[in-house]
Amino acid sequence: MSKNYDVVVIGAGPAGYVAAIRAAQNGMSVACIDEWQNRDGKYAFGGTCLNAGCIPSKALLESSELYHRAGHEFKKHGIKTSGVELDLAAMQKRRAGIVRQLTNGIAGLLKANKVDGLVGHGKLLAGKKVEFTPVDGKPEIIDAANVILATGSIPIELPFAKFDDEYIVDSWGALELDEVPKRLGVIGAGVIGLELGSVWSRLGSEVTIIEAMHDFLFMADREVAAVAGRDFKKQGLDIKLGAKLTAATVDKDVVKLEFEDAGVPKSIEVDKLVVAVGRRPYTGELLAEDSGIQVDERGFIEVDDECRTRVKGVYAVGDCVRGPMLAHKGSEEGVMAADLIAGEIAEFNYDVIPSVIYTAPEIAWVGKTEQEVKASGRAYKTGSFPFAASGRAKAMEQTGGMVKMISAKDDDELLGVHIIGPMAGELIGEVVLAMEFQASTEDIQRTIHAHPSLAEAIHEASLAVDKRALNFPNK
Ligand SMILES: Cc1cc2nc3c(=O)[nH]c(=O)nc-3n(C[C@H](O)[C@H](O)[C@H](O)COP(=O)(O)OP(=O)(O)OC[C@H]3O[C@@H](n4cnc5c(N)ncnc54)[C@H](O)[C@@H]3O)c2cc1C
Repeated sequence: MSKNYDVVVIGAGPAGYVAAIRAAQNGMSVACIDEWQNRDGKYAFGGTCLNAGCIPSKALLESSELYHRAGHEFKKHGIKTSGVELDLAAMQKRRAGIVRQLTNGIAGLLKANKVDGLVGHGKLLAGKKVEFTPVDGKPEIIDAANVILATGSIPIELPFAKFDDEYIVDSWGALELDEVPKRLGVIGAGVIGLELGSVWSRLGSEVTIIEAMHDFLFMADREVAAVAGRDFKKQGLDIKLGAKLTAATVDKDVVKLEFEDAGVPKSIEVDKLVVAVGRRPYTGELLAEDSGIQVDERGFIEVDDECRTRVKGVYAVGDCVRGPMLAHKGSEEGVMAADLIAGEIAEFNYDVIPSVIYTAPEIAWVGKTEQEVKASGRAYKTGSFPFAASGRAKAMEQTGGMVKMISAKDDDELLGVHIIGPMAGELIGEVVLAMEFQASTEDIQRTIHAHPSLAEAIHEASLAVDKRALNFPNK
């Protein structure tokens, strides 16, 4: 007799496991299938985010930043240090420990919510049947009243720089290096390339980042991107814009990179190469030919605004569908799908998704960039406040960067907020909430912010929009 569930989720990354938990909270019987295997051979829930993405990268960013600050900033605070040494093995052990704790935590959460966590491969057949193949067993058929596909994404491989897991690695490999490479090449100056480049640069690598686009951080506000570009250069990251990699060859422990820089052929040698040119949706062996699910030309599962596929009762969420490849976007889509299945009203505001780059300084934004607002033709006003004028930032010795706010001239609607500076990823939460509640700039102006706090920079930027900043001259 085949098993049956109200909801079967395929994929236990941040989109899938969250969908499974919410479906169970809604009173459904739920199974969540995942096949992720870590390099130590162990299977784990949590997907890319917990095993090879958000969490391990943030663990190493934190450790490497502390190492860097101990060597370079403590003196300014009047703290003398000597003999600061890197113990990379211990740093990596800490990273692995955090990943283990959190992925075990997901298994515990599934159990606590009475979700059956099934380890193995899931495939959607016709008629909402799911073929589940356990890692150590034979395929079985599960009848599902509803299915949520949440199979995530994988790194894009370049045909002329194929991953060999030793010299040419993807972002996961770059997080698990057991030696600091003397020279590190990174292809792609996107979020992942910059975060990984920062980690290894702080730990002592000479980092060269090759980026095909001419505009640095093209998706960010131009003013913020310009500040970031200058800062990263100061930190020693050699970012070559408008440079196209044409070949990467490994010979005698050295990777030779050939690239075209403004049309001129050039080459450099590095000890390791990280290819971080983006990710593509993953639907390998997921869909039977007669499953009825449509995949677009880029490999994304086609869904509507409510994550419904063309097959009634089958939803798809997270990196395997359109929209930014971000963990929090996937999780919220998972919640929406589970609530819709339960017959509840649910929606997702795709205009208010925060983006964060966890470099130092951090970069975070929500809403539209100034160039996007300008292109839309809507009349707008802007206000900025530099962290150099923030007492808290000074106390932290982290005065680089600013908060920039863009508001509509007609009705004062907040259109976009862009932050580069200390804890930008935390600060952005306030304005995400404000935008979700459709607050005006005046609402932020009239909100009391604790002193001294970094959040005062948001308050001052909102005042600056109307040339009423109190702690910085208005332009
Ligand atoms: C280095 C790096 C850093 C990142 N940092 C951030 C960050 O700071 N913040 C942020 O928001 N995002 C970050 N991301 C992106 C984030 O990891 C993804 O957006 C997120 O993991 C997507 O979640 P998901 O659940 O859609 O897919 P995934 O996390 O990829 O999970 C999909 C799961 O489905 C499983 N699966 C696939 N097919 C099958 C099948 N047929 N049967 C069974 N199981 C299957 C996979 O094994 C996997 O476990 C980062 C990514 C990387 C690589």
